[in-house]
Amino acid sequence: TVTLQNLRKEFGDVVAVKGIDLEIEDGEFLVIVGPSGCGKSTTLRLLAGLEATTGGRIEMDERDVTGVEPKDRNVAMVFQNYALYPHMTGRRNITFGMKSSGDFTDEEIERRVEDAAETLDIVDLLDRKPEAMSGGERQRVALGRAIVRDPDAFLMDEPLSNLDAKLRIQMRAELARLHSALETTTVYVTHDQTEAMTLGERVVVMNDGQIMQVDEPQALYDFPANRFVAEFIGDPA
Ligand code: ATP
Ligand code: MG
Repeated sequence: TVTLQNLRKEFGDVVAVKGIDLEIEDGEFLVIVGPSGCGKSTTLRLLAGLEATTGGRIEMDERDVTGVEPKDRNVAMVFQNYALYPHMTGRRNITFGMKSSGDFTDEEIERRVEDAAETLDIVDLLDRKPEAMSGGERQRVALGRAIVRDPDAFLMDEPLSNLDAKLRIQMRAELARLHSALETTTVYVTHDQTEAMTLGERVVVMNDGQIMQVDEPQALYDFPANRFVAEFIGDPA
């Protein structure tokens, strides 16, 4: 379980996250949705440890990780822009940093890459460089880098937003399949309501640095907590 307690982040005068409380359950697919600038990415970066909190507390499995370095949190982040190294093959991109971490033997790394590649259907991409991959293929390799470490949680920030509409829908289905196969706790950020409603087992609706409502998709439609949620989520039809 990941617990956020009164989590807060200020950038100078801008309060990006205004004291949010949230409990993320083991194995769930939780989507954070809300308009541009509402604090979604900041919340995710606080979870990853890429930003320092200016208030509140983050616990992972009852361990206080508030000031803990990203590398000691055992979470894997997947970004919008893939962030693959252009001069490295798919394999090297996936395994980058694993050897030097000293946490894995060469055989272990090899075995994990093969497993991840099979899960994601990217065996053919392992020896290719990103320039020779499509957008969807690059995003799958970026997912490979996340799953190869077998993290406690995936943190995904609009991972599909660079893909065209057709591929985005296809990758949504793949993410759902991946989640049911691995059952890794996933926190997925998007500004796209349809994506949130399709992927989320529970959905957090944010606005202006605050949580408006946390619920299952159908409940958000049926019982919006306030006008903002009702208008933002809209009509399912
Ligand atoms: P989008 O959907 O556009 O990605 P978001 O919900 O992810 O938006 P954030 O990136 O979390 O929004 O930003 C929340 C607020 O914090 C915004 O007002 C933004 O300008 C501000 N902000 C984010 N990062 C910084 C930073 N490094 N320095 C200053 N202000 C920042
Ligand atoms: Mg963002």
